[in-house]
Amino acid sequence: MYESLAWTPARPAPDAPKPRINLYSDTQTRPTPAMKEAMMRAELGDEQHGDDPTVWELCDRMAALMGKEAAIFLPSGTMCNVVAILVHCGKGDEVVAHETAHILHSEGGTHAALTGVQIMGLAGARGMFTPDQLRAAIRPRTRYAPPQRLLEIEQTANIGGGAVWPLEVLTELTGIAREQGWATHMDGARLLNATVAAGIAPAEMVAGFDSVWLDFTKGLGAPLGAVLCGSRQFIDQAWRWKQRLGGSMRQGGICAAACIHALDHHVERLADDHANARALARGLAQIEGVVVEQPDTNLVFFDIAGTGVPIATAQERLAAQGVWVSALGGRLRACTHLDVTAAMIPEAVDAIRGALVA
Ligand SMILES: *Cc1c(COP(=O)(O)O)cnc(C)c1O
Repeated sequence: MYESLAWTPARPAPDAPKPRINLYSDTQTRPTPAMKEAMMRAELGDEQHGDDPTVWELCDRMAALMGKEAAIFLPSGTMCNVVAILVHCGKGDEVVAHETAHILHSEGGTHAALTGVQIMGLAGARGMFTPDQLRAAIRPRTRYAPPQRLLEIEQTANIGGGAVWPLEVLTELTGIAREQGWATHMDGARLLNATVAAGIAPAEMVAGFDSVWLDFTKGLGAPLGAVLCGSRQFIDQAWRWKQRLGGSMRQGGICAAACIHALDHHVERLADDHANARALARGLAQIEGVVVEQPDTNLVFFDIAGTGVPIATAQERLAAQGVWVSALGGRLRACTHLDVTAAMIPEAVDAIRGALVA
């Protein structure tokens, strides 16, 4: 028996079954044997000291991919958001984001606790808002109003259903921000899902942004790490915060090698995840009482209120059959990724149909 604590993740019971079909999150991918081999072969150094060649190689590749001057390797995407906000903003500054943004809901209140910014959340379907909404959110420059400093956009919009912001909208939004003298930051946790789905090069997609990061632990399948990109000045400041937050690493190249392997082998295949997500959405749409959001990428959100089965009950029933899904934003979410095959999709649909009988 394990005692349940408030903040420590619960350990699974020793006899808990492993998931057969894991749609819980694209973070659940395990490194492939080829990725592990790349990690074993990596040339290493002390990344904090600046001499891990594999970390430098990853940063150079990412800066080039994003069309930015420089990049920094960090342990997680959350740390990329925190570091970027610390560089762009001071305490009391305001960040404008969507109301479903990760920085508002999923970073443990860190922006109150650590960065000291306040976040204005704009409404809008599918995790997106319009240029008119952004214009309406501009505050007067008086000493009463919080100084607005940063526009933050999630590409893809996670709770928005993995939706892809169109490039024209991004260009207009970053143009408005620039007119106001704000900085612009992209939470690109799943940026390559967006670029693969839209058929647009990453550098073009993020051209209007001062900073952008990519998570290697989502659909790309690496065990840890995210890379934040921006100007040399920005990355220089980011290094100071990486050090202060304790995110500076030693033989980090062992993980950077996994990320490089992912860039070489796991990007184009994101299109397979998107095809699997569409197949899953089609299957789920056939179930009575289920309302499915059409996926742009690899996240399939579906509302089961019409079935009369509570979300937690559905999750438990599915878990008992070895099918894991998550609950997010009042819906169920199924993620496709590296460890989900096309053959698993009809099986998952059958399991979900079975679990939704009231
Ligand atoms: C996962 C995620 C993050 C955080 O990334 P971690 O690597 O889990 O810290 C931030 N933003 C979005 C949109 C995400 O999906």
